[in-house]
Amino acid sequence: MPLIAKKEYLQISLVGLWIFIANGVSAASVQEQMDQSPEVKAAIIELVLANHILYDQNAVDGYGHISIRNPINPNTFFLARSVAPSLAQISDVMEFDMDGKALNGDTRVAYGERFIHSGILRNRPDINSVVHGHAASILPYGLTQGNLKPVYHMSAFLGEGTPIFEIREFAQPSPDTDMFISNPTLGQALAKTMGQKNFVLMRGHGYAAAGESIRQVVFRSVYAIQNATIQTEASKMGKVQYLTAEEAKKSQATIEKTINRPWELWSLRVGGK
Ligand code: MN
Repeated sequence: MPLIAKKEYLQISLVGLWIFIANGVSAASVQEQMDQSPEVKAAIIELVLANHILYDQNAVDGYGHISIRNPINPNTFFLARSVAPSLAQISDVMEFDMDGKALNGDTRVAYGERFIHSGILRNRPDINSVVHGHAASILPYGLTQGNLKPVYHMSAFLGEGTPIFEIREFAQPSPDTDMFISNPTLGQALAKTMGQKNFVLMRGHGYAAAGESIRQVVFRSVYAIQNATIQTEASKMGKVQYLTAEEAKKSQATIEKTINRPWELWSLRVGGK
């Protein structure tokens, strides 16, 4: 190779390397990563199934979304493009960095609230999957100081109570917003309000749930919503006896070992295996 060509080759390679790094070390498209990695393929297939399950189980409606951290790159995550969850397909899945920036040159319209996912996944290395939705039974708990707490073993992960994110405390320049988590700053603020908990209420908006896996976060979303309905009904009848902190801890350890059981049932209902 002549000297000049070698130099040009080196320059081109460096530019390529720079683009590769600038893209969060993920220059391969979602489909290419699925082809190359069985872990990514399994995660994306399960993510699409989870979208359908969450709709079937009333945890999301035409709005709401679920993400999964990239199993081969902890600094990126997968999330469908802006589409109703029950309609999401593999080809709809996009990849984002921890600022909520779309990777791989993907210019399709993304969910405006992808920063809920980037904020929580960035703040919580122990969490790999996040759900956001607006389930009606949850809403009153974000509007009052009702404190969503576990009334039964299925939602024991709610522990000693649920924090409420008040967007007015963080919005700039005006506290009056459209209520959307529409930028990385608000995503980080929501993640800080959630802290080490696995569920956060968003006043006048909805909820975000977190889990180590897709199956766990789907389980938690479904049963947190059921908990809200039961808690509301029980509180009309009298003083509510919640699980004690210790009961919640023990119940969570037992019940969350069994999450594959409802997952299989929920999968079948939406045409999964
Ligand atoms: Mn929302």
